[in-house]
Amino acid sequence: MTTSTIVGNWKMNTTLASAEILAYGIRDMRVVDGSVDIIICPPYVSLDRVSRIVSGSHIRVGAQDVHPESSGAFTGEVSPDMIAEVADFVIVGHSERRQLFSESDEFIGRKVVASLNAGLKPILCVGESLEDRRAGRAEEVVRSQLLNSLAGIEDVDGILVAYEPVWAIGTGEAANPQIAQYMLGTIRFALKSNFGAIADSVPCLYGGSVNADNVQDFVREPDIDGALVGGASLDAQSFAAIVARAAEVAG
Ligand code: PEP
Repeated sequence: MTTSTIVGNWKMNTTLASAEILAYGIRDMRVVDGSVDIIICPPYVSLDRVSRIVSGSHIRVGAQDVHPESSGAFTGEVSPDMIAEVADFVIVGHSERRQLFSESDEFIGRKVVASLNAGLKPILCVGESLEDRRAGRAEEVVRSQLLNSLAGIEDVDGILVAYEPVWAIGTGEAANPQIAQYMLGTIRFALKSNFGAIADSVPCLYGGSVNADNVQDFVREPDIDGALVGGASLDAQSFAAIVARAAEVAG
């Protein structure tokens, strides 16, 4: 795959006003020649406004989470159909959802199915904790998160997978690119074994303390098709620099 995908996860940051400024900033950098797919994921309340700002540009928009039901008595939740009105992508299974909100693979799997049914492309996050890695179970944990979260589907077309080791998220300590490649190679192999050749076209991303200085080390690896970026996506110049560096490798 020669196209890179760079996803910005704004998490629970930005007000309406600052989200607008950030979206204009990223849109107006115009650093891209088409070799990088850019997806930005603002908080729910800014989705509509950000979508309108980037409409007509090469930037697409995603939500950071979704509920698997299509409507009903789920106070505080947002359904796939609601998101599909304003976005094309949705992050599911982020480690912060798994850890802080006790989300299970089974629940995340329902989100994957519901998102696809609503026409959204899920960005499925998997990743081991430091404890898992130290205990030698990183591969086992990641494979089981992946396959259990995909248990309800027959075809992985339209899905993106992000390998995000928990110990690398927001710590400034990115994974060694060879470790990331090894884990994403393992993910690709598991996808191929279970879903066939289509796995070659599933964008497989690395996430965890990615910045403009290290992004090329990741996207040069054969099984790493891009990056999921948290902290460095909150500044238009930093994010644009990551996209520009990824474009140098992809192009
Ligand atoms: C993330 O939140 O998915 C993430 C990768 O964060 P950071 O880039 O800040 O490590």
